[in-house]
Amino acid sequence: MGLSERIERNVDLSYFEGKIPVNYVYTYGLGLEKFFNAIKEKGEFLASRCPECGAVYFPCRIFCERCFSEITRTFKVPGTGTVYSYTVCHLDMDGSPKKEPDVVGLIEVDGTEGAKFVHFIDAKPDKVTIGRKVKPVLKAKKDREGGIFDIKGFRQV
Ligand SMILES: [Zn+2]
Repeated sequence: MGLSERIERNVDLSYFEGKIPVNYVYTYGLGLEKFFNAIKEKGEFLASRCPECGAVYFPCRIFCERCFSEITRTFKVPGTGTVYSYTVCHLDMDGSPKKEPDVVGLIEVDGTEGAKFVHFIDAKPDKVTIGRKVKPVLKAKKDREGGIFDIKGFRQV
């Protein structure tokens, strides 16, 4: 079946054989690029504050989501935080059981607003505690690429 043929019933098309050329350039955007470059180069976490309404963003942004003002300045935050909530994942992405369960959750990042979704490192499910402090764990500087995977996760302290 070719791409130009009309499909009358969805169940008739279960897969497509061949290659589809996909050319694209993905960027994080200016705000997240600055955020991930600071982690890559300096191991620092950047937040920003709207000069008009005072909203604080982590990661840093270049425009305010609340009042649409431009944000030009960033400030460092330690990247530490507090466990707000968590859950334990026993199944892998394909539904098969994991060898060891993963713990993921939300943390409130010190000096910012709201909660961020994170992966907890070396966390036994029965040892994760809401309200406990956490700190970020980064890849070694030589291994950082300027993206989300430079952050290995967060460890309870
Ligand atoms: Zn604002």
